[in-house]
Amino acid sequence: MPQLEFRIGDVVQLRKPHPCGGTIWKVVRLGADIGFVCATCGRRVLLARSTAERRVKKFLEHGPVIGIAFSDAAD
Ligand SMILES: [Zn+2]
Repeated sequence: MPQLEFRIGDVVQLRKPHPCGGTIWKVVRLGADIGFVCATCGRRVLLARSTAERRVKKFLEHGPVIGIAFSDAAD
């Protein structure tokens, strides 16, 4: 099973729809937890990396490889 590689700016489809009905999310934060913003309602959530990897159905778009510009310094 290949490990998923998240990058800032990735656009992913998750298996479980958000309460707003949206399934498309954008990756905005990397670390032990992955931050996603719902493309439909704009709500931000954090998922543990292992949880996020299980929930991703497919990648729709990949962010740039040099995606560290927006990572949190606290990580
Ligand atoms: Zn939503």
